[in-house]
Amino acid sequence: MKYVKIIGTIGPASESSDIIGQLIASGMNVARLNLSHGSHEWHTRVISRVREVATRHSVAVALLLDLQGPRIRVGSMPQDGITLHTDQAVRLVCDHAAAPEDLTETPKMLEVPVGYDALAEDVRPGQRILMDDGLIQLQVECVTGAVVECRVRVGGLLRSHKGMNLPDSTISAPAITDKDQADLQFGLEHDVDYIALSFVRGPDDIRRIKDLIGRSDRRIPVIAKIERPEAIHNLTGIVEEADGVMIARGDLAIEMSPEAVPVLQKQIIREANTQNRLVITATQMLASMVSNPTPTRAEASDVANAVFDGTDAVMLSAETSAGTYPVESVRTMDRIIRAAENEIAASRMDISVPRLHTGMSVPEAMCTATAAASAAVGAKVVVVFTKSGATAVLMSKRRPTVPIIALTLTEQIRRQMALFWGVVPFVASNVSGADERVHVAKKLLKQAGLIATGDRIAILAGSQLGHADMTNALQIHNVN
Ligand code: PEP
Repeated sequence: MKYVKIIGTIGPASESSDIIGQLIASGMNVARLNLSHGSHEWHTRVISRVREVATRHSVAVALLLDLQGPRIRVGSMPQDGITLHTDQAVRLVCDHAAAPEDLTETPKMLEVPVGYDALAEDVRPGQRILMDDGLIQLQVECVTGAVVECRVRVGGLLRSHKGMNLPDSTISAPAITDKDQADLQFGLEHDVDYIALSFVRGPDDIRRIKDLIGRSDRRIPVIAKIERPEAIHNLTGIVEEADGVMIARGDLAIEMSPEAVPVLQKQIIREANTQNRLVITATQMLASMVSNPTPTRAEASDVANAVFDGTDAVMLSAETSAGTYPVESVRTMDRIIRAAENEIAASRMDISVPRLHTGMSVPEAMCTATAAASAAVGAKVVVVFTKSGATAVLMSKRRPTVPIIALTLTEQIRRQMALFWGVVPFVASNVSGADERVHVAKKLLKQAGLIATGDRIAILAGSQLGHADMTNALQIHNVN
């Protein structure tokens, strides 16, 4: 049993049912659909394949729809790209003002088209503009009308549609673009299990997307991607408003700095765990495995350290979507997680949120007590009855030393719980009363081969299923 969960991004390298099946068998718990790429038709095919293969394997696999957000891109460039030379002057113009064939490259001034109308309004002289994952760096010299004149500080070859980052500017583009709205609609129609929003700036962005989701009468958890300086500034409020956060280390490193990322990773994980919110550590975890069958030592350390930091999940991007070794990447990640978790168990490392303290809610106190009691009496598993998954999150955040078996009423909540640290989710029939709970839990766990005669189990539930604030009953039982 591994506790930290694995998210795999599906792409051309992993779109077939065969590879999806191997990813699931190797330990992938959540399939991520990156809406920055692929048509709705392509994503529809992937969604039905993931669901079909997960059903065949009898495991819960969640689908996470990752919205592109206000990503700014370079426009169309000549096919071979254009080299920007250090110290050269460059004019950035909105892309409907220049066609690629009109591009003029003179030693003095090069014009680069940009797919963002408000660029000239958002940037000021002295601010940085980064292109292609931060590899090319420009500095704004002056803004004249809709034209932004820059000096190249670090040059490089610039190709069409590369991403741009404006780390020093306040971006006026809406947090949820027209494309995001269409993609969200698509996700709602396909009953995805999580929505992730890119380039979140503050809690209002989360409220806006929750409002859009709410209009469809659905309740889909929202993951805020933390990658902008404003998001770091507004972290507490974002974590409070969202159901979870993703440490989107790719853009975070560009927008802040690479050396800021390890410290921010620890702070974001701590904040999420303290507020009982989900936290995903993402990007370049096994980057060299895009083209190599084994990871670097630094990558193995990176995955293990995210586990030690207390993350709920770790994510693979290009490794599974476009790399040569998608299945090996998941297998490798699975092995690194297990080795790190063995060390946590052997050294009794404390990765849990605070112990019992005054001011805790009743469910928080009950979950904290359950984690302590299950360890004290040597229980084999902790069973939680949960309708919305809320009690399972609280229990998970207490980091018990044994698996959490979460019993719920619907397949959707079961799939959502696939992302929760240490949780093995099942659908069970509605039960009423303590005796029936014990009976149902024992029967299901025995059938699944998770317990045997002589084991001890802890069961946490409420007097009324569906009222998380009523989680108030802990039972310890011997299995006979
Ligand atoms: C990131 O920037 O690290 C990230 C996860 O986002 P995306 O994959 O959309 O770039």
